[in-house]
Amino acid sequence: MSAHRVPTVLSIAGTDPIGGAGIQADLKSIAANGGYGMAVVTALLAQNQHGVRAVHVPPAAFLEAQLSSVEDAVVIDAVKIGMVGAPELFDAVALWLAEVSPPIVVVDPVMATSSGHPLLDPGSHDGLGRVLNLADLVTPNLGELAALLGEPVATSWPDALEQGRRLSARHGLTTLVKGGHLQGDRSPDALVDAGGVLVEVDFPRIKTRSGRGTGCSLSSAIATRRAGLGDWPGALLAARSWLQDALQHAEPAGIPALHHFHRLWSEAAPTVDRPP
Ligand code: PLP
Repeated sequence: MSAHRVPTVLSIAGTDPIGGAGIQADLKSIAANGGYGMAVVTALLAQNQHGVRAVHVPPAAFLEAQLSSVEDAVVIDAVKIGMVGAPELFDAVALWLAEVSPPIVVVDPVMATSSGHPLLDPGSHDGLGRVLNLADLVTPNLGELAALLGEPVATSWPDALEQGRRLSARHGLTTLVKGGHLQGDRSPDALVDAGGVLVEVDFPRIKTRSGRGTGCSLSSAIATRRAGLGDWPGALLAARSWLQDALQHAEPAGIPALHHFHRLWSEAAPTVDRPP
């Protein structure tokens, strides 16, 4: 194996058949950020941007078989965990993490779709906590951050940072505090550990109707960049600046989704004829 190979990144998450969120967004984000994407499915969703029609959750043994298929064949550089469809699946993921100890574990504690459909079983809170205890980074939005702490949603950036500090202390990890759901024309993000803010980035807010999959994509991008670059602040800056472009040029195919490959395709974008 070459000393300089592409980082391998495994997404453990639920599906989105229109490719804007979930595991499909993760794979695009991993590829766009320079990684080799792999995927273990925790739930099959029949959904689009308007809502969720049905959810099919595999038995824990099938999830375990997917995880061991990857582990037996590939050196895993980073893992990103998104939606996990049932309490017993959280237990299976926690056991696997404890056994395998992947070098980088990023958890996006997904609780609902942008259309408001719940994605976290109420019985899964303890299992999610056990997974967080084995993770390096958690990437909640402000609502998820508050729910994890059992507190009201922060309405100011300093309050959000303080919640991030408490969550980091509770689980022994770093929290990416995201200001995307605050008001104002800036959208700050910060890495916060139990001691306080490690690094903060600040980008102009981009108004778009196509922000679906932003959380999934950012957490996958950071996992990939961290595996490639070797440090968290550099990974945040690279991932966030990539996301800015992906948001700016969202809806590449007329579907409400990020443009994961804007930078790659900007030279020679493939197009299809559209009716007038
Ligand atoms: N995972 C799945 C399977 C989803 O369907 C969604 C949203 O629809 C998410 C995660 C969270 O998406 P977002 O990145 O918009 O928070």
